[in-house]
Amino acid sequence: MWQIALLIIVIIVVFLYFGLGVVVKFYLRWRFLAVMASSERICLTFDDGPDDKITPQILELLSEYGAKATFFVVGEKVEQHPQLARRIVEMGHEIGEHGYRHLHPWKSSPLNSSAEVVKARRIIDKLGVTKKPILYRPPYGKLNFLLLISLWDQRRQVVFWNIDPKDYQQQSGQKVAQFVIDRLAPGSVILLHDGRTGNGSQGSVTVTALQSILEEIKRRELHLATVRELLEKSA
Ligand SMILES: [Zn+2]
Repeated sequence: MWQIALLIIVIIVVFLYFGLGVVVKFYLRWRFLAVMASSERICLTFDDGPDDKITPQILELLSEYGAKATFFVVGEKVEQHPQLARRIVEMGHEIGEHGYRHLHPWKSSPLNSSAEVVKARRIIDKLGVTKKPILYRPPYGKLNFLLLISLWDQRRQVVFWNIDPKDYQQQSGQKVAQFVIDRLAPGSVILLHDGRTGNGSQGSVTVTALQSILEEIKRRELHLATVRELLEKSA
């Protein structure tokens, strides 16, 4: 009998820790993308940086096209390159949190999950980013129960995406660009990376893709905005 009780307890705990994160994530993602879809703008977002090789190239390209983007930075990388994080803000881009160590929320203990949010907040505070609510993109787009509680407690605005060309896996910048261009429409939130180089390209795939995407946005006379600009407009 006690085995059945134990099994039920384990199922409840697993549902609370993982399942609730999945259900709430779907709701938050649906709500966020509905707000984005009601706008006429496009958001360019960059995750996992700052990186001393890739981020400066991205910033230069954005500046060439007069484009503004939102960067979801990893806390420990900001500690390594604080000047880069400041430069992102000084150039008029938006910064949001992407965890302190970029831990996978489904592989993190409850203690680590809440510590990630608190540590990332300290880093953002040091950067002097004071606009509220602070934007947060969950690593791997996943949430767990403790992370949800911490995000609610810290009043974070959770941000998702609807175009993910997986630039960190692809070997061809043109393929990445084509994937995005085929799906580009008002309300698009494009996910690229300025700090994840699983394809061994040191960012060249992302930079090549970004140039083609920016050209297409210009050609189609579409308008870019940061995530916060769109959220504030819809409030
Ligand atoms: Zn990430």
